[in-house]
Amino acid sequence: MTLHKGGTERARERRPHPVNPFYGEADPVAGMETAPPRYTLPEGPISPHNAYQFVHDELMLDGNARLNLATFVTTWMEPQADVLMTECRDKNMIDKDEYPRTAELERRCVAMLANLWHAPDPAAAMGCSTTGSSEACMLAGMALKRRWARRNHDRYPGTARPNLVMGANVQVCWEKFCNFWEVEARQVPMEGDRFHLDADSAAALCDENTIGVIAVLGSTFDGSYEPVAEICAALDALQERTGLDVPVHVDGASGGMIAPFLDPDLQWDFRLPRVASINTSGHKYGLVYPGVGWALWRNQDTLPEELVFRVNYLGGDMPTFALNFSRPGAQVAAQYYTFLRLGREGFRAVQQATRDVACSMAEQIGALGDFRLLTQGDQLPVFAFTTADHVTSFDVFDVSRRMKERGWLIPAYTFPPNRQDLSVLRVVCRNGFSLDLADNFVADLEQLLTELRRQSAPLGRPENVATAFHH
Ligand SMILES: *Cc1c(COP(=O)(O)O)cnc(C)c1O
Repeated sequence: MTLHKGGTERARERRPHPVNPFYGEADPVAGMETAPPRYTLPEGPISPHNAYQFVHDELMLDGNARLNLATFVTTWMEPQADVLMTECRDKNMIDKDEYPRTAELERRCVAMLANLWHAPDPAAAMGCSTTGSSEACMLAGMALKRRWARRNHDRYPGTARPNLVMGANVQVCWEKFCNFWEVEARQVPMEGDRFHLDADSAAALCDENTIGVIAVLGSTFDGSYEPVAEICAALDALQERTGLDVPVHVDGASGGMIAPFLDPDLQWDFRLPRVASINTSGHKYGLVYPGVGWALWRNQDTLPEELVFRVNYLGGDMPTFALNFSRPGAQVAAQYYTFLRLGREGFRAVQQATRDVACSMAEQIGALGDFRLLTQGDQLPVFAFTTADHVTSFDVFDVSRRMKERGWLIPAYTFPPNRQDLSVLRVVCRNGFSLDLADNFVADLEQLLTELRRQSAPLGRPENVATAFHH
């Protein structure tokens, strides 16, 4: 979470300020006269009604999630899912003994994913729920590192320093993993029109200290799928040449729940023998509210036993693999709900509708003439675009800032090495973002363009431009 520095109230805020007389419950005149302090624990209690109203009013200023084209995370679920999540909000995932049925639903979700991702022996696949893909990636990275350390116990700890090979377009969780677990991040830069990892560069960066290669399905920068099968083939060739056997982890945070339904012939999962583990975010295209991810390993060999902890379960013990201990069970129940509710055909229909919206929107934006599409929304339902070469009066940052005036959140950011010269806008389509909303977006953009074209020059990019929009 954001690492906050302690705050104090500014002088203006410290003065007791009056509050709405209606906050005096039954008697507006005898009600509270000053608002409670904001950065110190209030001296005494207030009524639940007032506490609710304060928090509620403050949160009104948050954005409208449905108009947010920046995030991959689910912003709408059916009312039945809300009910189910409310019913489960007091359940702690780790109390397997107290909540054996929640544990069972988690097990079923893992089994369904193992089957969906073509584990050769679904019964032998291992997996768990997590708080999201980031935690899942930490776990998968730890398993890769431990397996490598075992194979190299004569050199590590000691002289060898482990490394992990990835594209410069990876999500920030992989930089975190490398930082936290002291692994060198070997990143393949973008070159020209190649905006993600390619097979030859990946294999070229591998050596005897490589714990694995991360292949992303798909990239958060532009929604493109990395060529997982080609990467595996290049590593097969490397093994033939050198004997190095480098496993692949697929970061399927988004694509793990898109490709199985929309691109069934694409070979990216456990069908490729080199793929040791896969993660996905249940709260992205798994269609569940924030707080759930999944990590799966091909079999027991790919998940070292010594990383597994055991918790009490109905008098026996149950293996667990997690960074957290306590965690809400509601998201896991909601994930099982979406699996049960939609089935394969339902998922296919939902994801296809989302991809249709993305493709249609990309096409319309391309047709405006002011932009150049980098991707078309036909892999992840996500696309990136930049201003066309002839456009000199405005830039992507102007578009992002001005669209916010109309309520649309669309991030602008620069690409990582070696394409820091390229700044883009990115649209993430999700279930709930309808064709109607997409048409409204394009209409608003078109109207804005008549103003932007009249600018004499871009109005200046913000000073601290993010080099990666990491949602
Ligand atoms: C979103 C994302 C992550 C991080 O996932 P969380 O579920 O937000 O923790 C990791 N990798 C990729 C490719 C992503 O898109």
